[in-house]
Amino acid sequence: MPTRRRAAAAPAKKASAPKTGKRGRGRIAGRAAELRELVSRSISALVDAIHQHTRKNMAAGVRAFIAEKGATVGRIGRRGRRPGLTKKRILPCIAPGCTNTSKGPRFHYLCEKHMNAPKRDYEAWRLKAKAARA
Ligand SMILES: [Zn+2]
Repeated sequence: MPTRRRAAAAPAKKASAPKTGKRGRGRIAGRAAELRELVSRSISALVDAIHQHTRKNMAAGVRAFIAEKGATVGRIGRRGRRPGLTKKRILPCIAPGCTNTSKGPRFHYLCEKHMNAPKRDYEAWRLKAKAARA
């Protein structure tokens, strides 16, 4: 009986051997290498074919997309105010009797000549200008 048991156990052990990742030596290794080469060759050929196909398709797709949606894409890019049409708001200097253009809110709406005016001066001018606007 022990002999039979050993015989029964042996094939099971052999069958499980390839699963361990240890590829056999000799005849099996040669076949495996052959197979591997064949697989890699056909895979690289397949990848090449897919790559070329995809590239061709993608180029065609992009071209078609641009041709079809070109107008829309252009409009999306041009959304908002066009730079040529932006009109800069020019506000005059708030100093009394001054006709120069102000340098904007950063300089309390004062021109270059008045931008170093003391705060109490431009505060008064500001209130006056505000009253004149109202
Ligand atoms: Zn001024």
